[in-house]
Amino acid sequence: MTRIVVLGGSFGGLTAALELRRLLGKEADVTVISDDDKFTFMPSLPWLIMGWRAPEDITLGVDGILRPKGISFIHEIVNSVDPEKSKVATANKEISYDYLVISTGPHLAFDEIPGMGPEKGHTDCTFTLGHAIKTGQTWKKLIENPGPVVIGSAQMVSCFGPSYELAFEMHTELKRRKMRHKAPIIYLTSEPYLGHMGVAGLGNSRRFFEDEFAASEIKAVVNQAIEEITPGEIRLKDGSRLPFKLAMIAPPFKGVPAVAPLGNPRGFIAVDKNYRHTKYRNIFAIGVAMAIAPPEPTPVPVGVPKTGFMTVKMAKTAAATIYSDIKGSIPPPESALEVVCLMDMGHTAALMKASPVLPPRQDSYTKKGMWAKWLKVSFEKYFLFKMKHGLSNLP
Ligand SMILES: Cc1cc2nc3c(=O)[nH]c(=O)nc-3n(C[C@H](O)[C@H](O)[C@H](O)COP(=O)(O)OP(=O)(O)OC[C@H]3O[C@@H](n4cnc5c(N)ncnc54)[C@H](O)[C@@H]3O)c2cc1C
Repeated sequence: MTRIVVLGGSFGGLTAALELRRLLGKEADVTVISDDDKFTFMPSLPWLIMGWRAPEDITLGVDGILRPKGISFIHEIVNSVDPEKSKVATANKEISYDYLVISTGPHLAFDEIPGMGPEKGHTDCTFTLGHAIKTGQTWKKLIENPGPVVIGSAQMVSCFGPSYELAFEMHTELKRRKMRHKAPIIYLTSEPYLGHMGVAGLGNSRRFFEDEFAASEIKAVVNQAIEEITPGEIRLKDGSRLPFKLAMIAPPFKGVPAVAPLGNPRGFIAVDKNYRHTKYRNIFAIGVAMAIAPPEPTPVPVGVPKTGFMTVKMAKTAAATIYSDIKGSIPPPESALEVVCLMDMGHTAALMKASPVLPPRQDSYTKKGMWAKWLKVSFEKYFLFKMKHGLSNLP
């Protein structure tokens, strides 16, 4: 029987494991290894920070998803991969594989900027459930004792959407509480211009965000790298300083240490069009763990986003390719990745699309309306339903 090991229990890992089981049935022994026994629907973490969602609204137990489908789950940290011997090591065991699918997401490199981060530094973060819960506590304190807010992304970030969302959501909530004049908001970013998003913009996104930030009195500070963070102050590499009471700053992204040796200098893994490792033919990398070259050089380095939507598509292609290897059938054709992103704006929302991800494109726009807010809520409910019941065959 073919042994397939999947690293990571989130958008990519769960989808890949469920698809492999669905396609191969009892012909494969599928095991997921993840250091988190919960699946968190991360697009809703900004709502959790704002107090609009509780953790139990947006999390599912990984074992409860996998076990009924006959997929084994090991709740441990993977320490290393030996691609020559086809083995994965945790602190307690070595697990051999015939195929390995890596979907370990980003390593949040707080240590690259002195003073950054919720554990050892002075800033908050949105990128894990634990970080978002802590940011929610900082937000509550800000409501009691308002002051300057800085939200944004450091150099080498490749996920900008949540910071835009939080800037709009905090603006909306402060306004609703008649406190907006007591809490100036700055959107600080490594992007060369507003709406760049790591993909050189989506249609009219630059003008869209310039207009929306002007209307909301959110001040944009673009094209910036952060030097260090001290209690209550962000120091930029150009010498300027931004005071804050609440700073939610996305840290630089890297590949996670266990798989980084398989990747480029930042630890992201180069793959072919079917998400197969360019050297090790039985290893696949999907989602944030894989490498996409930026569309253009930027004065401050930024990464290309790999959204949940893209990650699910990659997982399906990788699973179908492994199936074709085992069955000796024709592998799935190349399927271009596109960005389809629903961005909450507090009082409204926007749909952003770029197809394909990198320019030149067939289709690219940013559109706003309450319909996008309803779509965003529906996406949350739909995706959690789909994952809870292991229905990876659904779109
Ligand atoms: C706040 C926020 C908002 C977002 N909003 C949207 C949105 O609106 N739309 C959208 O499409 N996308 C959105 N995204 C992006 C989306 O969440 C990611 O694209 C998706 O999570 C990537 O999935 P992944 O499987 O690659 O990695 P991740 O989701 O990061 O999962 C990585 C998994 O690997 C595990 N892991 C890591 N290291 C190890 C190790 N050493 N050993 C064992 N396990 C390990 C982790 O515990 C986790 O289970 C958002 C992301 C965030 C953070």
